[in-house]
Amino acid sequence: MNSLPSGDQLIIAVSKGRILNDALPLLAQVGIAPLDDLNTTRKLILETTDPGVKMVVVRASDVPTYVEYGAADVGVAGKDVLLEYDGSGYYEPLDLKIARCRLMVAGPVGAAEQPGRLRVATKYEGITRRWYAEQGVQVEVIKLYGSMELAPLVGLADRIVDVVDTGNTLRANGLAPLEHLCDISSRLIVNKASMKTKHARVTSLIGALAAAVGESSPWSAA
Ligand code: AMP
Repeated sequence: MNSLPSGDQLIIAVSKGRILNDALPLLAQVGIAPLDDLNTTRKLILETTDPGVKMVVVRASDVPTYVEYGAADVGVAGKDVLLEYDGSGYYEPLDLKIARCRLMVAGPVGAAEQPGRLRVATKYEGITRRWYAEQGVQVEVIKLYGSMELAPLVGLADRIVDVVDTGNTLRANGLAPLEHLCDISSRLIVNKASMKTKHARVTSLIGALAAAVGESSPWSAA
């Protein structure tokens, strides 16, 4: 029943949470809605209202992996995840302008400068190393998988690098944004081989989504 589609069918990789909440209305606009309720189903491969499209639900940081290796033809991933993944095995044709936030360095309000090497807790290890290397600042990067805001409160780190939306979580924990690394939004990514072998389907999806987000697509005029 749940076998993977073949031929000209498309598999789209999405992740649960903030991105999916914003992506579902956008996908619905282009005629793609999961047949099951994503909040309750335990299925990981979902049929959609478009018989030619299936959805796979994966961890946010795994979306580029599924797309790079062709296990999914297209995916929706945050720019933060893509910058951290740092891969070249997919195209990134469209900014979906959803799940917008900022990647920031944050630290305790009014904390005195600590002597010695700054300790920075983050799940964005690669981005953080590159950011401080560009500034010529030596830091110790501590990899965490969640609740970054806790690290400065318990003395694990002097700073965190995390995505910030309203800033409420930082404020609630006595932290303040200090440096702005970049703006983040979700992007449509496409497997390079699928772009060739399923060209018509992929480009029509890109064109439809581009129209839905008010962008022009390089293929929509064709
Ligand atoms: P905030 O609105 O700043 O309080 O954000 C609260 C939490 O949500 C933070 O810990 C972030 O890690 C997370 N967050 C905010 N925006 C996004 C986003 N666009 N994608 C994923 N996580 C997010």
